[in-house]
Formats: sequence, C-alpha cells, structure tokens
Amino acid sequence: MPYCPQCRFEYKKGMKKCPDCGAPLVDKLEKESPQGINYVPLRTLPSRLYAEMLQDSLKKEGIPSIIKSDDIAITFPSHGTTSAVPVSIWVPKDKAERSAEIADQMLDHI
Ligand SMILES: [Zn+2]
Repeated sequence: MPYCPQCRFEYKKGMKKCPDCGAPLVDKLEKESPQGINYVPLRTLPSRLYAEMLQDSLKKEGIPSIIKSDDIAITFPSHGTTSAVPVSIWVPKDKAERSAEIADQMLDHI
C-alpha cells in the first residue's frame, strides 16, 4: 500500500500522490522518525461538519488533528456537498487518550 511520507497515511493501491498535501507517495513508511508525529485515527464522524467541530475543540486543548475524507477528495475534487459521507479525524498518538475524552464530551452534546 502506498503511504504519504508527510501525513503518514495509507492510501489505496494505485495512488501516486497524496490528496492532502500533494507529496509523492512511498511504498513503505519508515518507522517513526524522531521528529515525525505519528497520527492515529480517533473517530469516524458522520460528516465533515462534526469533524470540524471536534477539530476546533481539540485545537483549544492544543491538540493538532487531521480530518480525512480522501475518498471524496479523489472522487469529487470540486464537489461541495460532502455532508452524507463519513470522515475520520486523526490525532497524534500520544494525545489519543485526551482526544478521546474531548470527543466523547463533544459528541454527547450533539
Ligand atoms: Zn500527505
């Protein structure tokens, strides 16, 4: 499977470029590099709106996050309506626990 060396995400076979950052994909990701952040999936959300709300809450806690909806980006690059498609939000591995608490709190209020 190809990986993005920048975002450290795995993509579908046959992809050559990262849809997020445009970096050429590599076949194998090197083991965690010293300065590289290792992201793990936190939640899959029903729409980008929720993902952005959660991203906002995480940001307030100083936790960086990445919203993934690569299928959309690939299939409909200029399509505006992404509401029905699930997106996932990724956080640094060492912040995953705290992020899960924030996510649980936020999703309780939806
Ligand atoms: Zn990338």
